[in-house]
Amino acid sequence: MAIEDKCSLCNEPAVIRGSENGTRLCGSHLVLDLEGRVQKNIAEHCMVSSGDHIALALSGGKDSTALLLFLHHLQPAWHGVKITAITVDEGISGYREETVMAAKNLTEHLGVSHHIHSFSDYFGDDLDTLLKGHEQRACTICGVLRRRVLTEAARKIGATKLATGHNRDDEAQSVLMNVLRGDLARLVQDSSSGSPGSFLPRIKPLLTITEREVVTYLFVRNYCTDLPECPYTVSALRLEIREMLEELESWCPGARDALIRSRDGMRRYASSLARSGALQVCRECGEPCSGEICQVCKILASLRH
Ligand code: SF4
Repeated sequence: MAIEDKCSLCNEPAVIRGSENGTRLCGSHLVLDLEGRVQKNIAEHCMVSSGDHIALALSGGKDSTALLLFLHHLQPAWHGVKITAITVDEGISGYREETVMAAKNLTEHLGVSHHIHSFSDYFGDDLDTLLKGHEQRACTICGVLRRRVLTEAARKIGATKLATGHNRDDEAQSVLMNVLRGDLARLVQDSSSGSPGSFLPRIKPLLTITEREVVTYLFVRNYCTDLPECPYTVSALRLEIREMLEELESWCPGARDALIRSRDGMRRYASSLARSGALQVCRECGEPCSGEICQVCKILASLRH
């Protein structure tokens, strides 16, 4: 952004230009704008209630760091709401050590309770070992196993909600990925409304915040750290999807939002059908799932063969 660009609300230099309405914001106004939008997301979707214990998935990366900063800022206005950060150490050599340390430093700095759980404790081996010969499926395997660790860790501390740092770009990418995979079940699965004895409700307070806004927010607040990239990222379909969406958005502005709206519409329809269905549990581990065997047990079985 050129130096002569001024904030639309004051005379300070702008640090970001809104992609939709062209509003330019300086650092202070960006922080206020984002804090207000996160608060609005939480209120509109009833994400937080009095007395909630929020388990916050803190990888140490940019999205979860921003999420913790936002929720920590909003916490004093909530009645009896507790936040505990949970970091999952998958065991990815040359990568996870630094992000786990970043998470530890941040929680110590903010005075937030922090628990670290490893894949080795839950599945007997770290991700590097589990993935031998299955590297192409790294992110699918890692994602499914990480979700299980997070859910169990959150349950152990008596959490009532699990907060994740998914931003608007992540959400749009997930929609397109599920469409391209033909995975209708995952496309319409809504984890925001668990039921007693079932899935722990998940909340995504950053759901309308873009990746660019998250990065700029961290930069303005001096929390931008240079962390290594996961070595398995190269095999991630998500990267290709991200580039496709960036191109799509450049000639079809609003494409990401349209994808998310379409997904939300399908979810509403699917949830009205699902309300009549009984809860199923995995016959291997007893966890709630949408078929006979849950994703975690399927993945662990495939890794053993
Ligand atoms: Fe796991 Fe893939 Fe993320 Fe690496 S890039 S931490 S393998 S989901």
